Amino acid sequence: MADELEGLLFPGSVAVVGASSAPGKIGHALFSNVAQSFSGPVFAVNPGYRELRGRPCVPEISDIPEPVDLAVIVIPAAMVPGVLEECGQLGIKNAIVISGGFKEAGCEGAQLEAKLVEIAGRHSINLLGPNCLGLISTQAGLNATFAPGGARPGEIAFLSQSGAFCTAVLDWAWKAQLGFSHFISLGNKAVLSEEDFLEAFVHDPRTKVVAAYLEGVKDGQRFLRTAREVTAFKPVVVIKSGRAEAGARAVSSHTGSLAGSDRAYEAAFRQAGVIRARNVEELFDFAYMLARQAVPKGKRVGIVTNAGGPGVMATDAVEMEGLEVARFTENTARALAEGMPPAASIYNPVDILGDARAGRYREAVRLVTADPNVDMVVALSAPVAILTYAELAAILAEARREHEKPVACSFMVGELGEEAESILREAGIPSAFDPARAVRAVSGLVRYADIRRAPRQEPGEYPVDRERAAAVLAEAKRRDRVRLGVEAMGLLEAYGIATARGALARSPEEVERALLDLGESVVLKLVSPDMSHKSDVGGVRVGVPADKAAEEAWHMLNMAQARFPEMPIDGILVQEHLSPGVEVIVGMVRDPTFGPLVMFGLGGVHVEVMGDVAFAVAPLSRVEAERLVRSIRAYPVLRGVRGQPGIDVDGLVEVLERLSQAAVEFPELLELEANPIMCYPHRVLAVDLRLTVSGEG
Ligand code: ADP
Ligand code: MG
Repeated sequence: MADELEGLLFPGSVAVVGASSAPGKIGHALFSNVAQSFSGPVFAVNPGYRELRGRPCVPEISDIPEPVDLAVIVIPAAMVPGVLEECGQLGIKNAIVISGGFKEAGCEGAQLEAKLVEIAGRHSINLLGPNCLGLISTQAGLNATFAPGGARPGEIAFLSQSGAFCTAVLDWAWKAQLGFSHFISLGNKAVLSEEDFLEAFVHDPRTKVVAAYLEGVKDGQRFLRTAREVTAFKPVVVIKSGRAEAGARAVSSHTGSLAGSDRAYEAAFRQAGVIRARNVEELFDFAYMLARQAVPKGKRVGIVTNAGGPGVMATDAVEMEGLEVARFTENTARALAEGMPPAASIYNPVDILGDARAGRYREAVRLVTADPNVDMVVALSAPVAILTYAELAAILAEARREHEKPVACSFMVGELGEEAESILREAGIPSAFDPARAVRAVSGLVRYADIRRAPRQEPGEYPVDRERAAAVLAEAKRRDRVRLGVEAMGLLEAYGIATARGALARSPEEVERALLDLGESVVLKLVSPDMSHKSDVGGVRVGVPADKAAEEAWHMLNMAQARFPEMPIDGILVQEHLSPGVEVIVGMVRDPTFGPLVMFGLGGVHVEVMGDVAFAVAPLSRVEAERLVRSIRAYPVLRGVRGQPGIDVDGLVEVLERLSQAAVEFPELLELEANPIMCYPHRVLAVDLRLTVSGEG
């Protein structure tokens, strides 16, 4: 796949269709950029000129006398399909459609875009856009955008779904001297999308990190697969906008109402090893750090400062970011005690005091960086007249050279720090005014180190009784039902998930029969396809003595019929009465982007109030299921606290894997929720179930 984009990212020759000499026109800016940047053959296509900027200009793309690798198209939308078709016939395999007026412009545009997809498919054309800024490949020396500026060469491959953000980033990055290997404006993603570029970048030797701005991914499962492969080799940092839910969805379960689409993204990014940046600053701080510095061995931070306040701010940030304040070895502590004045703080953060000259700073940085208990260093400095920032920068650059440890700094100055900038840049050390930002920068490296270390595993497959599960769903279909309750427990059993013993009763005799092997007290549940939460309507009675069960069941039925005369009632489920256990919820919903999303959380009736739930995209591997269970706040409760025995966590993990398998194997399962699953030290079993199946399926 990587090679497939070779011609797009490294073309041998470029044609610009719609090139123009009229300043102010996109076709002008674009052609100027291409002509100026690219050293290979460049052709202009426009019936209005014979020549443009000293390059040959022809009326039609088919008039170009030489083979063309890449066509950049910037003409009115309605004319694009015709030109693309021509490209296809000429054997041009790569095209960038800059023009807007497609899907983003409404119905007619969407039809035009569909045509592009069809043509590109038929001729196997790598099509970027439409409605995009274009791309820059600094490695190919090509700027095929209409942006006012270009990009410096560097190690970051950048992808953006917003063209406006692209131009903004280009301008800013130029000033910040941040370099890019490739710079891609994705536009409408009619054909090529983030996944294709991720695949292309994974083996690109110049790209050390991929940074992306995304509004959504095109194919969730493919994104997950691709990104997971890429992050095993190089970091991917993404800023994904649209965290807030766009309006409530009509959902009928806890799982559904808790599973906003952002939860799916959050889960998918985590599973794929994608680092999610919280904001633009983080996106580029992480990208810069990951491009320029090596990942640390651990998460212990050594801090050197010449002022107390910044040291405290950095320490707070270390906590906030889940890092650790390093504890120095005795050797370091002793050396610091000897080398620093008595009033200095020799513990981390090391405060070398405001009267420190460069020599003391160097000594402290040297000792802290060399300490084996320190994985990375954050150096801070408030301005004092006896120090120049250029000196400090040189000290840090030296520390970087001598040790394979990340270094970030916060020089808390304005203009005074300017002379230090080029030294720091040369050394790949980021500098921020805010000490917390310097700490966040190194935290990005730690996040990637964790991602690299995390075990990667393929989902397993349990032997299950698919026929039995299918029969449960077929029965629902036969009865024309899309909502099912405890009557569908057989589905869980078919997938090897234990359920409480019980039987459906429709008459006092059937209640008696059901009671036979259930013990001295039982649980009665009203079974109706229309009911969401049985307890809300008096549909659950726990701990009914066996000898009163028939009478109680009769009572429950009558009550329900009196209150909800319209409600169809299947009968009463007579269930074994389980001893109190830890109640958890497992659920599944289908996300429009990522497909089956499995939920796990603390269960019972307060699920939504507590909101202590976590999500993962199915299929789940064992380690992902384990991680899901561990990721809720109440996990210590599951493990056992204060002399209380823990529950069967392994059993629970297996339930999640099995549920994930069911979700993948039965696409007609739209939503499923077992709440609660009763958990005990040696077993876990479902006592309740609700699910929604698709009408078609
Ligand atoms: P619903 O969620 O529709 O109200 P459930 O079947 O989940 O109905 O039951 C509600 C609560 O009753 C459960 O959260 C649990 O605390 C308790 N419960 C349900 N079934 C049993 C059982 N078989 N043994 C013990 N307690 C139960
Ligand atoms: Mg329930």
